[in-house]
Amino acid sequence: MSIATNLAMVTARIAEAAKASGRKPEQVRLVAVSKTHGAEAVKAALAAGQILFGENYVQEAHDKIAEVGPGPSWHFIGHLQSNKAKLAAELFDVIQSVDRLKLAKALDRKAGELGRKLGVLLQVNVGGEAQKSGCAPQDAAALAQEVAKLKHLELSGLMTMPPFFGDPERARPIFAQLRELAQKLGHDLPDGAMRHLSMGMSGDYEAAIAEGATLVRVGTAIFGERDYS
Ligand SMILES: *Cc1c(COP(=O)(O)O)cnc(C)c1O
Repeated sequence: MSIATNLAMVTARIAEAAKASGRKPEQVRLVAVSKTHGAEAVKAALAAGQILFGENYVQEAHDKIAEVGPGPSWHFIGHLQSNKAKLAAELFDVIQSVDRLKLAKALDRKAGELGRKLGVLLQVNVGGEAQKSGCAPQDAAALAQEVAKLKHLELSGLMTMPPFFGDPERARPIFAQLRELAQKLGHDLPDGAMRHLSMGMSGDYEAAIAEGATLVRVGTAIFGERDYS
């Protein structure tokens, strides 16, 4: 299947899932996750009308973004080391994976130097897995309060990656917990600071939309299997 065909299928399924949960299709945005796939794959998706892309590795993204050129909007969705924060702040419009204050401050400093505002989401480790990034749910309120104070960052919601269950129905309670957490945090934050929920990947984006996702991060279903060799 071509990238354009896959994109059309995913977009149609997103629209269906949005309608089924009583929302408009345009209330759910697709982040096409292009990690490990080359600039050509991104260009094919771009030609098919996809403008929002997600990347996990700063160096890989650096080269790819230069090769693709202007046009797309890029979100960083991987684990971000503080020493890569500067470059990430230059390359990306939104960092979805902020999970500690030190990282937020490094991003804020760099965004200030660049004279721009950088979008951020807080990544929350709802499933509590030791190997996953993300702050603990009980630490999210304090982190959100501090991040909301940083002048060069614009906090706009939460992101999560559930444990791998194989069955999307088992991920649903995790998605629901992220939504409930965002609602709770939203009471004590500026308007719009919790407007986005980034959740759902190739295997479970419809379940995530049913639980309120506004951003779904889909890679394999668009670009095919990843080759890490
Ligand atoms: C790779 C990745 C995705 C996309 O996963 P697929 O299963 O290929 O759709 C989404 N979110 C994050 C954080 C990822 O690392």
